[in-house]
Amino acid sequence: SLLRFYSSEAAASQPASDGAPKLISRFEELLQLGVTEQLVRAITEGMRYETMTDVQSLTINSALAGKDVVAQAKTGTGKTLAFLVPIIQKIIAQQPRLAQPPRGHRWARDPPRCDDIRAIVLSPTRELAEQIAEEARRLCKNTGVTVQTAVGGTQKKSMLLRARREGCHLLVATPGRLRDLLDDPTSGIDAPRLAALVLDEADRMLDVGFQDELDAIFHILPTIEQCPRQTLLYSATLPKHVVSLARKFINPTNFEFVQTVK
Ligand code: ADP
Ligand code: MG
Repeated sequence: SLLRFYSSEAAASQPASDGAPKLISRFEELLQLGVTEQLVRAITEGMRYETMTDVQSLTINSALAGKDVVAQAKTGTGKTLAFLVPIIQKIIAQQPRLAQPPRGHRWARDPPRCDDIRAIVLSPTRELAEQIAEEARRLCKNTGVTVQTAVGGTQKKSMLLRARREGCHLLVATPGRLRDLLDDPTSGIDAPRLAALVLDEADRMLDVGFQDELDAIFHILPTIEQCPRQTLLYSATLPKHVVSLARKFINPTNFEFVQTVK
């Protein structure tokens, strides 16, 4: 079946055995899966988290393996780390020099640019976007990965100046502002090699009325044929309109569906 279903309780007692990636439960185990040391240490030493939450344990490994993910999990279950770890790892894997140079060796870094964004996280509100960006910056602290936010109600000009100065590998945005930036050829913001797209709090994005913006963004972004992209969708609830959104964005032949009960 294309649709694999997990419940967090079943998963705890029965690790997947049908060729699915093995379940992991400790952040330290990410090292064995080839996740960059700086990223793992930012979690285990910077944030001091040892054990994954259910949604993290059930999605990080699949996402690292390149699968699309549709995950339903309640608020407060750690969805932010669940999607940030695999997408930041993907950015580093595509540009290995980002994680290489030790402190002080700036020579190995590429010049900053904001027209080659590799990952975009969409969030329904400015506050949530800023929280996600803050967590992403903590994770990226000892890597060369740069994170920017693009949200409504803020100065577009100062955001763009900062993105041009610092570069932008990962953009956390609200749908309205992202559409605005991608539609504006003078913004300098572009993502022709976008490798990962996250739709966070998908149910709330639709409640807030971002359906049109999400449709527009879908049509502006490079097609999957032009540039293969991984999509991760997280939502607290899965009403019909969220399932339709997932159908639009998710690769039907390579995805994981995860539902957690706690
Ligand atoms: P959600 O997006 O599911 O509502 P968040 O990603 O905002 O949840 O996480 C909720 C809180 O739990 C945050 O303060 C976060 O830093 C913390 N957290 C996330 N993962 C872990 C973990 N594995 N161990 C302990 N705390 C965690
Ligand atoms: Mg969240």
